[in-house]
Amino acid sequence: MVVMVRLLRVGSELHVQDTPHDTVPLLEIVQELVDFYKPQIEQACKVCLGAFAVNDSPAYRLLMAKELRKSLANAEKTGEFVSGIDDATKERAIFKVVDAGCGSEALRYSEGIIYLGPKADELVEKKEGKVLVCPLLDVGVVHELSHRLWEVLRGQTIEQDLNELEKKGASLNKHRIYRMWNEGFATFCHDQVFVGLDERLQQVADLPLMYVEGANKVVRVLEKYGASHLTRIPRDWEQLSKEFE
Ligand SMILES: [Zn+2]
Repeated sequence: MVVMVRLLRVGSELHVQDTPHDTVPLLEIVQELVDFYKPQIEQACKVCLGAFAVNDSPAYRLLMAKELRKSLANAEKTGEFVSGIDDATKERAIFKVVDAGCGSEALRYSEGIIYLGPKADELVEKKEGKVLVCPLLDVGVVHELSHRLWEVLRGQTIEQDLNELEKKGASLNKHRIYRMWNEGFATFCHDQVFVGLDERLQQVADLPLMYVEGANKVVRVLEKYGASHLTRIPRDWEQLSKEFE
């Protein structure tokens, strides 16, 4: 059953009124944020981001597991992990390298779907019959929408990019570089380009290192080629990664 919730923007807090639920309707809140920010990004960038769904954390965890297995298999193939290292250590290492992207563990984007992560619940709070949403959830949604923007500008999905890399037998380091540009692009978008879309959006301190590293590369590209070059980064990340080592 779809639960109807009405979100009211009051000051800097987002209220859900009259929720019949004991629990926080997190899926609906994130969907409302998507519906609020997506048209603004589409208008600002003159693109169509397509349909977006929001899914819950079991699906997200499955996806994570699938990705981890893929990364593990790739590491075995490229031999970047010395043999004899136990699987748990490998997983932790790959988690750090390939999936630095799950820094906040709140949200994750894949193939037109935003998945709620294990920590999404920490960004909402129920108080006196109202649900208060932490602005970091707004930032998270804009970040994930920026990943979709990457796909539209690039002309294929991130999943397709990763499959292509895998087919070419790209090294773990190549995956890492891809991830860095991809996260850097999304970080630069939410932190610099779209931060003015709403007063609730804010620049975030303590981002994962890979995000900061990637965003700094984006800054260097724009310093050299001008701000309009941002839209070319998704298509040109491979050449740019050689130029901006
Ligand atoms: Zn991201």
